[in-house]
Amino acid sequence: MNTIINSGVVFNIQYYSIHDGSGIRTLVFLKGCPLRCEWCSNPESQSLKPEVIVLVNRCIGCGNCIKICSEQAIVNTIEGNIINRNKCIACGKCTEVCNAGALQIKGKFYTVDDLLEQVMEDAIFYEYSGGGITLSGGEPFFQADFTYSLLRTCKESRLNTAVETCGFVPYETIERCLPYLDSILYDIKHLDTDIHKQFTGADNLIILENVRKLAKTDVNLIIRVPVIPGINDSNNNLIRTAEFVKELGLKELYLLPYHSLGVRKYSQLGRKYKLNINPPTVERINEIKEILIDSKLNIYIGG
Ligand code: SF4
Ligand code: SF4
Repeated sequence: MNTIINSGVVFNIQYYSIHDGSGIRTLVFLKGCPLRCEWCSNPESQSLKPEVIVLVNRCIGCGNCIKICSEQAIVNTIEGNIINRNKCIACGKCTEVCNAGALQIKGKFYTVDDLLEQVMEDAIFYEYSGGGITLSGGEPFFQADFTYSLLRTCKESRLNTAVETCGFVPYETIERCLPYLDSILYDIKHLDTDIHKQFTGADNLIILENVRKLAKTDVNLIIRVPVIPGINDSNNNLIRTAEFVKELGLKELYLLPYHSLGVRKYSQLGRKYKLNINPPTVERINEIKEILIDSKLNIYIGG
């Protein structure tokens, strides 16, 4: 049954993107993800629920947030205000009284109609560039019914539609969206099941099975590999991945070099960032491109 769910949790809307699909696009970032990749640059996307982030450097110590919190969830420490995540109900009241902008809520409920209205503000750009909407996250298919409703409504408005996915969802969830989807940007993080599980929290069996099925459909399927030094960037894994992509009958592979822009977000959410790695050098990325020449795939760098 194709359930219509009219509202979902979104943590960011980014206009005028020229990546992540064709033409000029609006990126809508949905909350909730079934994986826990250690390099995730959007940790605020992982939980389905809205969350408060703390920008310690902006705090002026007025104490307004502590006074207004009915749950006594904010504790002042020598390192600044800390939120007890077990107590916080994400009501957002502290963010409203924080004039310094030190507290912000990530995640807001939107109806499909509200989102469409916002996305359609750039309709003229989509029309001239062949662009549209890209759902990102988090994992858009994690909010399965909302994503379905949103894609269907966007397609009815004749927008080009794309989804960025980790693929770790039931195939049926993706399948029912296919009539309303132009492109799928599909991440393959590691071909080794055990290593995949070690660094993402889940094995890759469903992910590989789903992408094999999708390769037999008409959807424009784009495979992307985040290049994470020391985790999946061995020549062996990259060559195996390229071979796998070729076996799918595809001609392109996108490499997304690791960056550390998301690291500071972990402490803002009261979490620890486990990795201690640097982005790959330009030389290493060029070397990888050379190594993958034999695959005869077109190799692109970036999204
Ligand atoms: S969001 Fe609400 S419950 Fe959470 S810390 Fe702020 S005021 Fe307290
Ligand atoms: S309201 Fe904002 S500035 Fe005031 S103590 Fe709380 S976090 Fe700091």
